[in-house]
Amino acid sequence: MGARGDAAALRSLPAVHELAAALDAPHRLAVAAARRAIDEQREAVRSGAPANGDLLPRARELLAELERPGLRQVLNATGVILHTNLGRAPLAPSAREAVARVAHGYSNLELDLETGQRGSRHAHVAQLLAELTGAEDAIVVNNGAGAVLLAAAAFAGPGRAIVVARGQLVEIGGGFRIPEVIAQSGARLIEVGTTNRTRLADYQRALRDADGGVGAIMRVHQSNFRTVGFVEDVPIEELCELGVPVIDDIGSGWLASQPAPIGGEPAPIGGGETIPVDEPLLTASVAAGAALVCCSGDKLLGGPQAGLLVGQRDAVAAARQHPLARALRIDKLSLAALEATLRLYRDPERVLREIPVLAMLAAHPDTLAARAERIAAGIGEAASVVAASGRVGGGALPLLELGGPAVALAGEPEALAGALRAGQVPVIARIHEERVLLDPRTLTEEEVPLVIEAVRGALAE
Ligand SMILES: *Cc1c(COP(=O)(O)O)cnc(C)c1O
Repeated sequence: MGARGDAAALRSLPAVHELAAALDAPHRLAVAAARRAIDEQREAVRSGAPANGDLLPRARELLAELERPGLRQVLNATGVILHTNLGRAPLAPSAREAVARVAHGYSNLELDLETGQRGSRHAHVAQLLAELTGAEDAIVVNNGAGAVLLAAAAFAGPGRAIVVARGQLVEIGGGFRIPEVIAQSGARLIEVGTTNRTRLADYQRALRDADGGVGAIMRVHQSNFRTVGFVEDVPIEELCELGVPVIDDIGSGWLASQPAPIGGEPAPIGGGETIPVDEPLLTASVAAGAALVCCSGDKLLGGPQAGLLVGQRDAVAAARQHPLARALRIDKLSLAALEATLRLYRDPERVLREIPVLAMLAAHPDTLAARAERIAAGIGEAASVVAASGRVGGGALPLLELGGPAVALAGEPEALAGALRAGQVPVIARIHEERVLLDPRTLTEEEVPLVIEAVRGALAE
């Protein structure tokens, strides 16, 4: 089309208010959708596309996009149980109900119902955490990263140092790097040992030589990687005997008592199978005498985003009194979900059944096989059941492969995965060896019909 044709096509575009008037939506929204449709068309004409006579259908599409919430439900078919991009742990039914109750009206968040005086929001979970972990006291904050920062800050002071093994100066993800966290806490960092080997004598020498005093030793779990081979580090029990407070950042919050994973021993799971849960146990660090043990609420603990600090009374009090505690405080909805999640841990059988993360980890192979078959049958001939392996994710158990069935889909994988993400209920799949795979482990029974419908829709495109 020549310049003159362009000009005519541009002149024929409707006015924003005309197009908006034809849309059934609040004025501001209708105008926004109409303006987008017209802008799009103007761009298209300028780049030589033929003019589109009727902009109304496109304006309606754009309106639907604007009306759709930004944060919405997706179906996790990746097989990665703790997917940080997908919001990590789904909540247990009782935790969801607790959130709804607290969201609905007022609560005794910071009110002591007995005295009528101001109470502490930590009181709702401190006792429960003490009971479950054996700790003297506890405080909870906004997330695991906040817990680590607060723990370091509680032991920092003018000229005070925090001692960390070189093999533990890690980056957790999202730019959260231990040396920088310690700098933010106000403490001086003393590094000991080497990347692969650190011995008790390295810590002892550092404690002897440090001028200005050592506030704490910090141990950091290698959450999202492992060093193997010629490696050595100091067990938490020995660190706790050095006479300096120990902060133990265990990351994943492994507290399950049924699948007893002490010392990385295989944990019994569904159907008598075993999963080698090689993650530090919260109770073990408390028993060893760590001053503060930090972990995340939404990793293997299976609760909401939160940061837990459990440990010795004085250390918890120091954390609670630090100004950062206010800045990092947990909100009431997360607190409600956390309390309900922790209550489940009182009953080992309910834990495995009702905490979705643990149920997925422990899913019986027969259950997964049946679910995969149901999904494949519902989709039709484009689907077949194959053997695959999933992951825990979220920086937990990085070497563990969770074997099981998956539903493989025929079709160009990138385009198909894109169509699945673009659906009404987006399905997030995994691509492996040029095929789209749907993993039944991270889908619930109730989600199966939704997945089938979404996949059929995507395949029809
Ligand atoms: C995940 C993790 C954190 C951060 O916890 P978030 O809840 O993600 O903020 C800190 N330390 C370790 C060792 C972790 O694995």
